[in-house]
Amino acid sequence: MDQKTHHPADRGAGSGAIRCSRCGATAEGPTPPVTWTCSVENHRRHYFCENCSRDNIRSIEGRLDSSWW
Ligand SMILES: [Zn+2]
Repeated sequence: MDQKTHHPADRGAGSGAIRCSRCGATAEGPTPPVTWTCSVENHRRHYFCENCSRDNIRSIEGRLDSSWW
């Protein structure tokens, strides 16, 4: 059989999986874990996993004291 299936473009590239924009880690979709961070850049959503979110937050809130890390 040579059936062609059309995938709706608005479903996104992955198959429901969410991918970290930084390290490439994946999580089960359709919604990211609460520990993940979503940021919108250039009208595109970027997800960051738990580890990368920490680094992100640390860089964003660079004034945070590192005593609790
Ligand atoms: Zn990551």
